[in-house]
Amino acid sequence: MGRERRLDGALRRKPGTVDWLGKRETVTPEAADRLEEFFASFAGRSRPLLLLDYDGTLAPFRVDRFTARPWAGVRELLEEIQRQGQTRMAVITGRPAAEIAPMLALTPALEVWGLHGAERLFPDGRRELEQAPAATQARLDEVREHLRRDSLGGLFEDKANGVVMHWRGASRHKAEQIEHRTRELFDPLTRMEGLALLDFEAGLELRVGRNKGGAVEAILAEAAAGVDGQADSPMAYLGDDLSDEAAFRAVQRVGRRGLSVLVRRTWRETAAEVWLRPPEELKGFLRRWREAGNTKSIFNSSNR
Ligand SMILES: [Mg+2]
Repeated sequence: MGRERRLDGALRRKPGTVDWLGKRETVTPEAADRLEEFFASFAGRSRPLLLLDYDGTLAPFRVDRFTARPWAGVRELLEEIQRQGQTRMAVITGRPAAEIAPMLALTPALEVWGLHGAERLFPDGRRELEQAPAATQARLDEVREHLRRDSLGGLFEDKANGVVMHWRGASRHKAEQIEHRTRELFDPLTRMEGLALLDFEAGLELRVGRNKGGAVEAILAEAAAGVDGQADSPMAYLGDDLSDEAAFRAVQRVGRRGLSVLVRRTWRETAAEVWLRPPEELKGFLRRWREAGNTKSIFNSSNR
């Protein structure tokens, strides 16, 4: 096996094969095999799909999200992949889509699905936003007003398609209080058409529109329709949060050509097949992607 086929960093699948005391281990055989199989499937296929969450996945989490820059070296790797012109790359984020381009500053511009998939920003600047029925929108606006006056002890975030309560950083007792009050306020509204709850780590969102799984499905539907020769392309989704689980499951529905990757410092229960610890293992994965997406190396690997 050539050096170029070796994985950068450690890639694991489940604990049990991982040292809980934090000792760094190399790849479990099953995760390594899965990754080898996945990257080998690039050979002869033109347009792999690389779908990425932003916060916690490409960048360390920051309470002030405008300071959450990508890990050193990640932006450059993404740009190299983007410039190869082989990969269709998209970011799927909980943020408003317009926030991502300045953080990543990629050329050519990236496709971004914002607000967990309710918003779509095309590379040419076109924007689509899912809307709620008028009655639902009116009730959502009432909750917005309520939270502006009283943020229930947490941090209120106002979004175009919903309201978010954050309790990251609060003590356990305080976090439980905030969550309880938030659920009391949000739960009755989930009976209205078009509104749903979205759980994420240290927060809860009441929102309109598709979730990240819906965004992946929309992208897959376009690919299946033969847009740009992507119908049977390999695809991967990388994310860190509970809100990424729906996207992991959507990717798995396409079978072995879909790879779901949990990017996170510590392991947690997940539907994802492979677990990577940022930033080194993430960068290793992106280097492998760059190599596999390089036409020359596809040619070489098919002659191996
Ligand atoms: Mg995230």
